[in-house]
Amino acid sequence: TASEHVLPPNEDDARWAGLSRAELEAYWMPFSGNRQFKDDPRMIVGAHDCYLRSADGRDILDTLSGLWCCSFGHGRSEIAEAIGRCAKELAYSPPFQFGHPMAFQLANRVRELTPDGLDHVFFTNSGSESADTALKMAKAYWRLKGRPEKTRMIGRIKGYHGVNVGGTSVGGIVGNRKHFGSLMESDHLSATLLPENRFSRGTPEHGVHLADQLEELVGLHDASNIAAVVVEPMSGSAGVIVPPAGYLKRLREICDKHDILLVFDEVLTGFGRTGSDFGATLFGVTPDIMTLAKNITNGAVPMGAVVSSAEIYRTFMDNGGPDYVPEFPHGYTYSAHPIACAAGLAAMDIFEHDRMAERAGAMAPYFEEQVHQLKGLRHIVDIRNLGMAAAIQLEPHPREATRRPFEIAMRCWEKGMYVRFAADTIQLGPPFIVEREQVDQMCNILADVIPTID
Ligand code: PMP
Repeated sequence: TASEHVLPPNEDDARWAGLSRAELEAYWMPFSGNRQFKDDPRMIVGAHDCYLRSADGRDILDTLSGLWCCSFGHGRSEIAEAIGRCAKELAYSPPFQFGHPMAFQLANRVRELTPDGLDHVFFTNSGSESADTALKMAKAYWRLKGRPEKTRMIGRIKGYHGVNVGGTSVGGIVGNRKHFGSLMESDHLSATLLPENRFSRGTPEHGVHLADQLEELVGLHDASNIAAVVVEPMSGSAGVIVPPAGYLKRLREICDKHDILLVFDEVLTGFGRTGSDFGATLFGVTPDIMTLAKNITNGAVPMGAVVSSAEIYRTFMDNGGPDYVPEFPHGYTYSAHPIACAAGLAAMDIFEHDRMAERAGAMAPYFEEQVHQLKGLRHIVDIRNLGMAAAIQLEPHPREATRRPFEIAMRCWEKGMYVRFAADTIQLGPPFIVEREQVDQMCNILADVIPTID
């Protein structure tokens, strides 16, 4: 059994936080090497500002804002207080056919922040749920338009849209898909990683032509069968893949030409990560549907959102039938959960009043400069960045492709720093409140650790 792989926790070692072996085994950890963790745990018991507190009492520098979601810094008291108040006054409210005011207020805040033309906000509980909601919304939209055959979805190789069935299907990270077969019918454009763009800073120069692959897929399937194209304006999970100059505009043009909806997954880029409010704002391209999550509550409560164009919303509302019948038969027990809405309103206050996107934009050039100083170190084959996001791509280990990033992350943890590793990259996305000295510390630790790994 799996427990044979688990050493009994050492009661004297604070790293186990006093947990029993039964407790360790009871929790099946997501996206984790369970056996490895339970032998060598990395328990987090607190967090403030840019730091996580480990069970053995260390302040660990957080280089990824949790999981790209606590971008305004850990432990924001405004959010904690809003959550506490709401938990006492209205811990739950039924979301179907009844409502509570904070849901409408938060929807309006998000609508005001997102680009003009994105006007109606549907709440979910995660980025994955936002992705699947967007796909269902797109399919239902075309049915309502009298074009039920428009069902095919187009994503991208290396795209990440969460782990539910729809998002896994349009997603293109091999390790996340291959265990599950074909799922939902979908095609994939290439990733926009080109050798000639290696080590370029910010938006890469080459590769706008890759958008023309969409024309090829339209040729293959005919636009009459295609519902939507789903892309991240900047891919995060596959290692910060920034679209080449002009690429997203070109996708928008092709979608317009063929009546295909364009969906931007801004779960990671939403609310400041690129130095602009949204990727759509930065690149000057407005999608028909935008998905959000993560920073919407600064990571404090699970929440996601799908923001649609007025045209899509109107199409559902004009659907006819008795006016009490749901126009979109979709939603969750916890859609617009009051505690999530309270956290979201407090997070939006912080986002606007503390000018978080501007703050990210102001630190971004320094962050870029320091991260790119790592070029030339052993194992590093590419460095990519945009705003307060960067990825360091490593040459894969000859036998175990993903081993080096894992070992680097473990060494960094020993040295007091949390970094995220995925596939062959180390990813950096610190909170926007990070100071220059912390950026220096991040890069210094990486410069120490990376070349020493075999
Ligand atoms: N889409 C993107 C672009 C993401 O980065 C993520 C999370 N990393 C998701 C979707 C999935 O979000 P969640 O984990 O909240 O389901």
